[in-house]
Amino acid sequence: MRSPQLVLKAGKEKSLRLGHPWIFSGAIQTLRGKAEDGSQLDVVDHKGQFLARAYYNAQSSIVARVFSRHEGENLDLDLLLRRIRSAWERRQALRTVDTNMQRVVASEADLLPGLIIDHYAGWVVFQILTKGMDVLRSAIVQAIQEIFEPIGIVERSDEAIRTKEGLEPHKALVSGDLKTEGVLAREQGMQLWVNLWEGHKTGFYLDQRLNRQWVGRYAEGAEVLNCFSYTGGFSVAAGYGGAKRVISVDESRPALDLAARNWQLNVNRPEAQHETVRADVFAYLRQLREQGAQFDLIIMDPPKFVSDKHHIDRACRGYKDLNLLAMQLLREGGHLATFSCSGLVSRDLFQKVVFGASVDASCDMQILHHLSQAEDHPTLLSFPESLYLKGLMCRKISGAGGSRA
Ligand code: SAH
Repeated sequence: MRSPQLVLKAGKEKSLRLGHPWIFSGAIQTLRGKAEDGSQLDVVDHKGQFLARAYYNAQSSIVARVFSRHEGENLDLDLLLRRIRSAWERRQALRTVDTNMQRVVASEADLLPGLIIDHYAGWVVFQILTKGMDVLRSAIVQAIQEIFEPIGIVERSDEAIRTKEGLEPHKALVSGDLKTEGVLAREQGMQLWVNLWEGHKTGFYLDQRLNRQWVGRYAEGAEVLNCFSYTGGFSVAAGYGGAKRVISVDESRPALDLAARNWQLNVNRPEAQHETVRADVFAYLRQLREQGAQFDLIIMDPPKFVSDKHHIDRACRGYKDLNLLAMQLLREGGHLATFSCSGLVSRDLFQKVVFGASVDASCDMQILHHLSQAEDHPTLLSFPESLYLKGLMCRKISGAGGSRA
């Protein structure tokens, strides 16, 4: 039987030819034949010329996602095995920090749109984000079993983004005996408890790995404020790097409890203090400002503020507020590690927002390092959307009353 064909409008094949995997509804001239949501089909140009193999979902604004440029190729167990195995080999070839947790498959960036696979100390956690992958669940599990022979497998397909594909959240312990205390993983000398079942994403912010190292390097002797601390990745890195005192702020009590456990496990200097504060970061920063508190190192890693381009301005106001407050709380010579994980906020725009904050705070800030997501979250050049995390390590060189006074 011939495969159904998704025929693109004239000129709409351009980005696809350049390697971009997404086909939006506006690009489609017609669908020849019948295609169920989640099924695989040929994508052809307006003259009927073969372009790619893709999976289809009429319920999504991204109607099809390309998985192959070869005629007749299907996304099945065989292709999953090949693609996941190559991604795993690529991860093993990375020259990175010493760790036993990393992202193995980063969706489109590893040529498997809609599939995330993370590895944590022998455990595998996967996440299915699209209908075309959802119908392949049992093949995905089989491939994971075969390639990793893991201690256990957890499915964490409970991301809200699935609703855009017409999918319900889905969470399952596929195999293994998952303890309530989580899984203990290691990263560059630190040991970290990760909650694979309840934690954000698949349990941990693996993408911040290299940035934790930077924070550790600037932490010696410092008083540190870690805003949006989650389970304390940056707090522990700072403590491990010699911080004198760290405050972890988050609105989630369970996340803070885990941060406290992670601190105890890694920071054994009796003079080093860790304090957890359950609060709204915006309100807490204002409170600290009123108290006249000052810090040597502030980490500002808020959640994603924007997933819709109409709300970019509002998100930028949020980033500006946070960074302005942070700069006011920073001692002269102090460091600010500030991030945005909103893909819609570009690096340039983020830098402008941070600059705006420094103007309002009347202080001179230097950028020391441009920070990004770790190398196990690679960016596919043909798919710039795979770059989402941007950050700046800044140093305050003069405060209010400094060079502008
Ligand atoms: N920096 C963390 C990840 C941050 S994720 C790491 O590297 O591991 C974002 C965190 O912000 C979540 O833990 C969430 O509970 C918290 N959060 C979101 N909005 C908040 C707010 N207004 N005030 C305090 N915490 C908030």
